[in-house]
Amino acid sequence: MEEGVRGKVTPFALLMRDDDWLAAHLDYVWDRYFADTPRANHVDIGFSKRWKARLGLITLCEPADKTIIRLNGLLSLPVVPECINTVTIAHEMVHYARGFGSPLPCRHKHPHHGNIIEKELLSRGLGTEYDRYLDWIDGEWDAFYQANARAPRRLWLPRQSGATFVGVADDWREAAATLRQPRPAVPEETAQEN
Ligand SMILES: [Zn+2]
Repeated sequence: MEEGVRGKVTPFALLMRDDDWLAAHLDYVWDRYFADTPRANHVDIGFSKRWKARLGLITLCEPADKTIIRLNGLLSLPVVPECINTVTIAHEMVHYARGFGSPLPCRHKHPHHGNIIEKELLSRGLGTEYDRYLDWIDGEWDAFYQANARAPRRLWLPRQSGATFVGVADDWREAAATLRQPRPAVPEETAQEN
């Protein structure tokens, strides 16, 4: 007998994305695209609130040494292309692999140093998913959010002070603005400096 991820046998359950589905999707992304990244601690992933301008975040809880990844609750809706979940998880996995929100060595001050997320997603074979992700965010997100977010709620923000928050909260508007900028032009050989 087929069962939904929570054990209920309903067609709708088969379409729903819950935290079990998300944990399985993290395993898929990790195995397929981040096989070189060790699981250095316990990683807890789940959906969170319906943020207006954030798709995901990653936090290392100290001293428990547990990583928490949260995705925008709206991404649990079946209408959202699955690649949005895939790329958002992969984005947080880049942070994890580079020591942000994880116990792995951290070599940079800033988690988005040098457009590193885009570079890593492309080098790890996620280019197709990433292009679809950018197109959907640019073209669909605002209308989707308006249609599916309930009563306006305060934008959730992670704790900014204190010893326990050492993670990265990703505001996709900021990230998208950065990523959509044209690549640097090749320096002109004849450029003159005064
Ligand atoms: Zn990020």
